[in-house]
Amino acid sequence: MSDAATIVNPATEAVVDVVPNTPADEVDAAIARARAAAPSWRAVAPADRARLLRRFAEAVDGDVEHLAGLEVANSGHTIGNARWEAGNVRDVLQYYAAAPERLFGRQIPVAGGVDITFREPIGVVGVIVPWNFPLPIASWGFAPALAAGNTVLVKPATLTPLTALRLRALALDAGIPEDVFQVLPGQGSVVGQRLVDHPDVGKIVFTGSTDVGTQIMAGCARHVKRVTLELGGKSANIVFADADLERAAAAAPMAVFDNAGQDCCARSRILVERSAFDRFMALLEPAVAGVRVGDPSLDGTEMGPLISAGHRSSVAAFVPEGAPVAFRGTAPSGPGFWFPPTVLAPVAPDDPAFVEEVFGPVVAVVPFDDEADAVRLANDTPYGLSGSIWTSNLGRGLRVARAVETGNLSVNSNASVRYGTPFGGFKRSGLGRELGPDALDAFTEVKNVFIATDG
Ligand code: NDP
Repeated sequence: MSDAATIVNPATEAVVDVVPNTPADEVDAAIARARAAAPSWRAVAPADRARLLRRFAEAVDGDVEHLAGLEVANSGHTIGNARWEAGNVRDVLQYYAAAPERLFGRQIPVAGGVDITFREPIGVVGVIVPWNFPLPIASWGFAPALAAGNTVLVKPATLTPLTALRLRALALDAGIPEDVFQVLPGQGSVVGQRLVDHPDVGKIVFTGSTDVGTQIMAGCARHVKRVTLELGGKSANIVFADADLERAAAAAPMAVFDNAGQDCCARSRILVERSAFDRFMALLEPAVAGVRVGDPSLDGTEMGPLISAGHRSSVAAFVPEGAPVAFRGTAPSGPGFWFPPTVLAPVAPDDPAFVEEVFGPVVAVVPFDDEADAVRLANDTPYGLSGSIWTSNLGRGLRVARAVETGNLSVNSNASVRYGTPFGGFKRSGLGRELGPDALDAFTEVKNVFIATDG
């Protein structure tokens, strides 16, 4: 087991940094510090906790360019995306800064006294973060957790710890006490596992693969530990013949190739009504050819490299020799973990690229016969995270949105995530919801108190 992770720029393969892994005994010590800090953090007056979170948001805002540059170098994200991601952390912090003063309970009518509910913090929360969106995904866990009065331990992915470490420095600058928000880089099998196994961590927020998420849920069950899971996806982009086909085809590439397809919401299945199939493919081809793939640090680049050589191999396995490639975009040659945008059609119903999460820039396009067939195909997956519906018939848009078994649907749009609305999956895509007004529920316990007024 290595004592440090060598951080590699995925676009150049140059070494960017070396980050020490946190050993198991230090994880235990950090958990003990977080536990000790919990009573004083929850006792901070609501307005003061709100002020500290707003100051944290301001510190992030002042550091957007720096954070974005780190993410470009560490994760190969395009500079445009990385700026959005750093801005999203600021926005999520600002949004939940309003929460400490609005953690309302209820007064419930009962006989013989007054009944009131409180929303108490859980205690210590562990946030286990994947490598695909290191900045936003960390904040979707830590911001509401801190706002609700919990102390937080963030475990970034081994491949991408740099921005989480920077956020910790910004939190300290903003005045968040040092044991209230800690970042523990290191391996999932050591740091992540310890957060799951340790009885003093009251809640785990995990984003990553469905396999690891399933193990984490089992580990949490041993302690009846609270858990939120955001897992894989195989989302469908459903295009009806009555849609604005030009718009749908122009938008489809970035609905799957954004972040080089390393997105749990990637629409990696495009389902097109049969009567519009040829026209849609004719419109899609130039849109895919036009995706600007290259140096992620340049403004205007739309797609960068994959995260690692190992991940590129697993993506490439979905496009073996003889695969039904309809057309492809471009990718640089030379150093870097590049893979061109790739469109597969026609595919067999059991083609792994149509069935499994690819997590790379590969999409399968499949025709459907009618609305019922579209819904059947969209739901024929163990996943249920996201998806899009393109139609000019609003009634159909709503009907299909209700019928597709996923947590986040967009009609005539490919949007998935807004900090003010709930995000999460049906079926094996996860458990619980992040973001939006209800996320605080996942970081608090409801306490009911009855006060007798008789006698
Ligand atoms: P993992 O699920 O392995 O990793 C996600 C996070 O969990 C990382 O921080 C990882 O640490 C940590 N982890 C790993 N094992 C454990 C464990 N036993 N206990 C606690 N924490 C653990 O994802 P991968 O990075 O391996 O990606 C594999 C595939 O998963 C991708 O190709 C993609 O299909 C899917 N995925 C989906 C994501 C999503 O957003 N839904 C995000 C990332 C991946 P470490 O980095 O040290 O391994």
